[in-house]
Amino acid sequence: MSTKNFKDYLDKNQIDYQQQVSLKEYTTLNIGGKAAFFCAPKSVEEVEMLITQAKANNIPYFILGNGSNVLVSDNGYAGVIIYLKKHMHQVRVKDDVIYAQAGAMLWDVCEVAHKHALTGLEFAYGIPASIGGATFMNAGAYGGELKDVLTSCTTVDEKGDMHTYSNEDMQFSYRHSRLSHANEIVVEISMQLAPGESTVIRQRMDELWQRRQSKQPLDKPSAGSTFKRPVGGYASALIDQAGLKGFVLDNAMVSDKHAGFVVNHAGATFEQFIALIEHVKKTVEKESGILLEEEVRILK
Ligand SMILES: Cc1cc2nc3c(=O)[nH]c(=O)nc-3n(C[C@H](O)[C@H](O)[C@H](O)COP(=O)(O)OP(=O)(O)OC[C@H]3O[C@@H](n4cnc5c(N)ncnc54)[C@H](O)[C@@H]3O)c2cc1C
Repeated sequence: MSTKNFKDYLDKNQIDYQQQVSLKEYTTLNIGGKAAFFCAPKSVEEVEMLITQAKANNIPYFILGNGSNVLVSDNGYAGVIIYLKKHMHQVRVKDDVIYAQAGAMLWDVCEVAHKHALTGLEFAYGIPASIGGATFMNAGAYGGELKDVLTSCTTVDEKGDMHTYSNEDMQFSYRHSRLSHANEIVVEISMQLAPGESTVIRQRMDELWQRRQSKQPLDKPSAGSTFKRPVGGYASALIDQAGLKGFVLDNAMVSDKHAGFVVNHAGATFEQFIALIEHVKKTVEKESGILLEEEVRILK
């Protein structure tokens, strides 16, 4: 690994970067140590440059969206964080199609859709995701998923080559896309929406936001649903039935408002959070025979 070469390259090419950045500040869980390099590319070309240089210098890289589904180790990350939110967040509209760069926030894109009286994306209002993270995860809520609107996805692969995938190519399923197995970075997507009625769109967005506020522990740091929905049931119901709603282990807690959310209720460490996840999995499996699978992505 040559961090010196990498740093020299960043300086020479005037890449926007910092060293030793606390990832705690960049995740909704508020957990995590420092990243060796934290780079905010300004263009697709810079994304390609970062990937090829990281690889050439044998330095691992990780793409961070809004950090709303990532649990970072307290030891931090001895590699390069590629962060698109800072500069690559442009959104444009042509007819009924929205083109959004991966660093745009999903709720901002929902606002753009509303402004242009385009319907189809209301389900996503309130998911604290970047477009890149939402595409990677096939984020969804209230009966909709990103796969319902995405028409194309442009990525950069490990060699720095670009690809454009159709909806079908993306192999979307529940919280899964082709990106789950390929180390590719989403740089832009397009979404096909339909002409709608502005006031109806606003009403639906506000209604869903209110539902979130009443059901989810939005006042506590979390990564949303900690576990995927198991076949034929809901993780939150299984956790509740196992008597774990409100269960506290050190500084981590199963929310007493929504048992599907494990929250950082008092400055939990990475180890404490993992210990509670493991405890929940073991207890639920013992009680119901169902093994829960984490939805949250772990970076260490
Ligand atoms: C309060 C709360 C409520 C939530 N509600 C929902 C919900 O209703 N529905 C739902 O689906 N999720 C929900 N989530 C979880 C989370 O918002 C989603 O999983 C979201 O899609 C993650 O997006 P992100 O930009 O934060 O990605 P991150 O958390 O930063 O990253 C998640 C994964 O995506 C990858 N990734 C990020 N950007 C890119 C990119 N440009 N290219 C390739 N890979 C990328 C990362 O490497 C990582 O593996 C919620 C979370 C919270 C905190």
